[in-house]
Amino acid sequence: MSVEIAHNLETIQQRITAACLRCGRDPQDIQLIAVSKKKPVELIEAALSAGQTLFGESYVQEFIDKHQVVTGPVRWHFIGALQSNKVKYLAGKTELIHSVDRLSLAKEINKQWGKADDVARILVQVNVGDEASKAGVPVDKAEELVRQLSELPHLHVEGLMALPPYADNLEQVRPWFRLLRELAEKIDTLNLPNVSMATLSMGMSHDFEIAIEEGATLIRVGTAIFGARE
Ligand SMILES: *Cc1c(COP(=O)(O)O)cnc(C)c1O
Repeated sequence: MSVEIAHNLETIQQRITAACLRCGRDPQDIQLIAVSKKKPVELIEAALSAGQTLFGESYVQEFIDKHQVVTGPVRWHFIGALQSNKVKYLAGKTELIHSVDRLSLAKEINKQWGKADDVARILVQVNVGDEASKAGVPVDKAEELVRQLSELPHLHVEGLMALPPYADNLEQVRPWFRLLRELAEKIDTLNLPNVSMATLSMGMSHDFEIAIEEGATLIRVGTAIFGARE
């Protein structure tokens, strides 16, 4: 199993490099997040042994359990839907929260990180396809939300995240990635305090190469590393 994970990680790194070559980007500018949700600690440890240090989790309780037992140079990103009453469990344990899509949630993160006089690094999740089933701030409300977040002293907005509509034909996904990048570029011109738009979290197992071509700096890959989830 661990051999397989090491092999999968190597294959993905090669695909990242190839995608970068196609579009003239530096592979060093893309970070791979190994999305380990619903996968056991043993597989995380296998990935760690293979040199993968950055992991993404989606469920608070599961994350806390894994955070307690996985040792080593591991870094965690929280990428799932987040309820305000659970934010306190994440404080001090996550490097970046990808899923901030409303002011009330941001205020709670600001409060919890503020207790340790710390600054939470966050991304604003945008519902690019305007899908009822998905979280994220609507595209036309994103700028306003980022403006509001820029006033919270214990938050630093580092960019945007999206989970675009699924399509078998990857070229149909490309415009959603492009939309997210263009939105980030637009917000960047506002020069808001505590806001940078340097990070674009987009692209998963089936579409990360297209996301890289459209400017992704963080890609979130689960299935292609750990296999299908139950
Ligand atoms: C599960 C998940 C992923 C990983 O998806 P795969 O298709 O398994 O690569 C990426 N991003 C988010 C937000 C997820 O919930």
